[in-house]
Amino acid sequence: MTDVVVIGAGQAGLSASYFLQRRGVEHVVLDANDSPGGAWLHRWPSLRMRTVHGIHELPGMPFEQPAPDERANEAIPSYFARYEQLFDLPVVRPVNVTQVVNDGSLLKVETSDGVWTTRGLINATGTWRRPFWPHYPGQETFRGRQLHTADYQDPTEFTGKRVVVVGGGASATQLLMELAPFAAETRWVTRHEPVWREGPFTEDYGRWVVGMVEERVRAGLIPRSVVSVTGLALTDQTRAAIASGVLDRKPMFERVTPSGVEWASGERFDADVILWATGFRHDLDHLAPLRLRASGGGIQVDGTRVVSDPRIHLVGYGPSASTIGANRAGRSAVRELMGHLDGLKVAN
Ligand code: FAD
Repeated sequence: MTDVVVIGAGQAGLSASYFLQRRGVEHVVLDANDSPGGAWLHRWPSLRMRTVHGIHELPGMPFEQPAPDERANEAIPSYFARYEQLFDLPVVRPVNVTQVVNDGSLLKVETSDGVWTTRGLINATGTWRRPFWPHYPGQETFRGRQLHTADYQDPTEFTGKRVVVVGGGASATQLLMELAPFAAETRWVTRHEPVWREGPFTEDYGRWVVGMVEERVRAGLIPRSVVSVTGLALTDQTRAAIASGVLDRKPMFERVTPSGVEWASGERFDADVILWATGFRHDLDHLAPLRLRASGGGIQVDGTRVVSDPRIHLVGYGPSASTIGANRAGRSAVRELMGHLDGLKVAN
């Protein structure tokens, strides 16, 4: 029995735990990973600090910029480990939460390692464990290799291969630029014509973007990705890749064939590999017994609070799905949740 269970020890869960600790709230953080790092632990080995978009430090402890060549899946987990230790955060791992169910006015959190009963819940499970694979006709007949961003390791895996990269987000362009020098040939396909964004990502612009994503989750719709609002950043590297033809976008093919992909026009591309850089979905299946989903398919939230159940907050969800957003979400979730739980205590 505890006051608050936090599920997930990524940026969002650690930030929530920090603010709970500061208020002296009894809580536990249940994390499925074997060691600190959240999703960063699983990012591909060739992702270096130079290529991540910018990591916002956790509250209360500076993130001393690692060398640009350092691996993101080492530098960030090591920062998280020091953070958990410095603030003595009550993280228990590896514990996989299988489902959360109602238990009168309390919540029962069922896990691979026993059951926790709690008054409040902060869900911070991220997206990494839910790679999204769209379905296209013929996909199962393809004789080559199909993989998702979540499976990507290193560009040398693609040496001499003909590769189709599917997806219009930052992972697609980043992986394509990285593997193209090794591949024999590449094609980049996206559903929509990419929109390139010039100019700095200012705070005002950031606020507008967050507002756009927020509008949807307030209405209970499935959150849009940040890139669908911002477009793709035009950098020296993307400009060079556009000029060299690596980032020459083709519309989505109509079907997958045993030997490659085929467009409606009859045009074909023989491929050895299809890389689905098609994003991730929020990892929320364990909350299904609580029936939180709105008719729009998403969970309706106001800030981080689930509208239909104020005992539950979602952090790292929708507009807070970035390292800076996750920090802020942790703070406001704790403030609001404790206000709600304290109100209940007074009422009783
Ligand atoms: P995560 O880091 O995913 O942590 C979730 C934790 O919950 C994990 O430890 C997981 O094991 C645990 N968990 C999940 N399900 C369960 C369960 N059922 N039971 C117990 N534990 C569970 N954002 C930026 O701001 N800058 C960037 O440069 C950047 N680069 C990115 C690159 C890629 C390829 C991707 C996919 C995203 C990137 N993002 C970036 C977005 C980034 O993922 C978020 O900003 C942030 O790291 C997410 O933190 P989180 O705490 O919400 O989730």
